[in-house]
Parts: sequence; C-alpha cells; structure tokens
Amino acid sequence: MKILKVDHIGIAVNNIEEAKKLYTDILGIPHTGNETVAEQKVTTAFFPVGEAEVELLESTAPDGPIAKFIETKGPGIQHIAFRVENLEQALEELKAKGVRLIDEKPRKGAGGAKIAFLHPKSTFGVLVELSER
Ligand code: ZN
Repeated sequence: MKILKVDHIGIAVNNIEEAKKLYTDILGIPHTGNETVAEQKVTTAFFPVGEAEVELLESTAPDGPIAKFIETKGPGIQHIAFRVENLEQALEELKAKGVRLIDEKPRKGAGGAKIAFLHPKSTFGVLVELSER
C-alpha cells in the first residue's frame, strides 16, 4: 500500500458555525464549504491548510458517532486521515497483516472520497481514516 499524505484532521465540534469563526476570521484559513453525509449522521466543513485540510465535524443526530464522541471525550481531534493510492488494496493488505478494520469495504465520505476507518485498538488509540479520491 502507498500512503500519499496526511489528507485531513477531523475535529469534532458542537457547532460548526461557531467553530468556523476561529478558522476563518481568526486564523484566516479559507472555508471551502459544508457537506452533510447522511449515512454517517454528520455535517462536515473543510478548511485547506497547505497539502492537508482541517475537517470540522458536527453531528446531525444525538445517536451519531460524533455526538457519542463528544459525549464521552468532549470536543477535539476525532480522527486523522491518510490519503492512499488504492483503498481496496490497502484494506486487503492491512487485514492480511492483522490490523483490525472498522470498515472492511470502502464507504462514501465527504467530497466524493472513498473512505474506511481502522480500529483504534490496532492503532494505539488513534482513529485512522484512509481516504482515496
Ligand atoms: Zn475524515
């Protein structure tokens, strides 16, 4: 498998509109738009920083994964995403190497990306997302 770069850092927030002010008005980073991913019960907002992006995540439902994350850990960094060349191939390879996967098959992420999550039990407590676009 080939990891190309850090794609983005996912940050769980209670309210995107509120958090957005820090990234745009104070830090001066452009905001490239919001997108709701219904199946993950989340709205995302992207802020490009050099080769990577900050992804703010706001839950759209009280039982969504981001709502649950904030409930137990509070707002903050929720995942780190690496861009890979070929996601299917990467998942097969990692599975063969004994890495626990949350997603055995790619699913649809924001921005038309194919994504899959690795289990934090296999990655020293970090929720790792692999992304291909
Ligand atoms: Zn992400």
